[in-house]
Amino acid sequence: MHTLSFSVFRNAKMRFALPLALVAGTFAAHSNIVAFMSQHVDVLLLLPYILLSLVMMLCQPFNQSKTGISAMLMLLAYYLIQQNLQAPLSQSQTGLTYILLAVLLPLNLFQLHFIPERRLFSRFGLIYLSILGLQLCWGWLLINHVNPERYNATWQMYFYTIGEFSPLPLLLIIMIVALACASASIILKRNQGYDQATFICLLFTGLTLFQFQQPYISSIAFTAASSLLLLNLISCSHELAFIDPLTGIPGRRAMETELKHLGRTYTLAMLDVDHFKKFNDKYGHKTGDDVLRLVAQLLLNINIKADVYRFGGEEFTILIKGKTKNQCLDALEELREAIASYPMHIRDNEKRPADDEDGKRKRGKRKQSEVVQITVSIGVADSLEDSRTANVLKVADKALYQAKQNGRNQVV
Ligand code: GH3
Ligand code: MG
Ligand code: MG
Repeated sequence: MHTLSFSVFRNAKMRFALPLALVAGTFAAHSNIVAFMSQHVDVLLLLPYILLSLVMMLCQPFNQSKTGISAMLMLLAYYLIQQNLQAPLSQSQTGLTYILLAVLLPLNLFQLHFIPERRLFSRFGLIYLSILGLQLCWGWLLINHVNPERYNATWQMYFYTIGEFSPLPLLLIIMIVALACASASIILKRNQGYDQATFICLLFTGLTLFQFQQPYISSIAFTAASSLLLLNLISCSHELAFIDPLTGIPGRRAMETELKHLGRTYTLAMLDVDHFKKFNDKYGHKTGDDVLRLVAQLLLNINIKADVYRFGGEEFTILIKGKTKNQCLDALEELREAIASYPMHIRDNEKRPADDEDGKRKRGKRKQSEVVQITVSIGVADSLEDSRTANVLKVADKALYQAKQNGRNQVV
């Protein structure tokens, strides 16, 4: 259908709810999944390796390094679980490895919320990998060179475990739940793809550690997690391709895709901000960007069912399907008026006077920020003009030119 329908996966509530639903589903359906996969256990064991490597590789070209690091941590954890944690946890070395993993993996995942989005092949990446390496060395030393019996006795004193419930100590269950809750609130606040990657990994790591004695739990949970990571990555890449980063509305590419799939009747409107160059010169490029964002929001409020795109620069395109020009004119006229009468509050941040005294005086005066008005010109054409979309677009563009000639701030 619409290129935009994919954007539901980037909705903050969806980013929070989908992994939660899947982790609950995995928990509930665990025994069914094991029964279903019993013929293909070897595939099940391999899937996390394949999918997590795929996520890591795809993260490189899309510059999603934090998601890539989440996948790398998961891959490392899965390897450790498969290689070192397949013996009973009552064995002291295995028990200690399990506890170390249960402490370090969630903490390492959680701190990804706070590191910058940088490439792994950089100075930052080197520091990050060194810290990770140090943790691994420390863990290895603890497990192999210190008497684990002594440590197990110590941690069993502090960590209270309810054996029949889960092998995971109560304190660590509380820690992981708290981290997952904090992670969820970060998603709901910032709504970023890389935060969701961390959330996904935390949830499924938590499930694995909690249900550790269930057969194949790590393979099932890590497969589910990596599938969600893939979906996350694809929806973030979709955003890169189709959404204009400045205004957050679909861009030129999304429009061109949509124009190829139009029905018989539709109307196209080209919209251009009037004298925007002068506006930029007067108030600065940053304020100009703010205005473009605002115009995009106002366009979304148009009083008719329409798709809105940023065509480029200060030009926007409105696509109204199933309606002729005459059926849209009222809504477009209303939109033009709404923009022209919208009081835009401008903070003059680029032209602050350098001199301190002068600055204070002027800033004092500008406390209530300047209010300006901007106007737009709109050119409209519909599919009755020509059967070819490119020509309809041309007619709309000509109409826009006419609107400019006629003195701007009007619909032609
Ligand atoms: P007209 O009324 O004839 O449309 O005049 P205009 O100045 O709006 O038209 P023109 O096409 O000459 O200038 C468009 C300006 O829009 C040029 C550029 O400075 C500005 N512009 C384009 N893209 C952006 C952007 O992303 N941010 C900002 N701040 N300005 C932009
Ligand atoms: Mg222009
Ligand atoms: Mg313009």
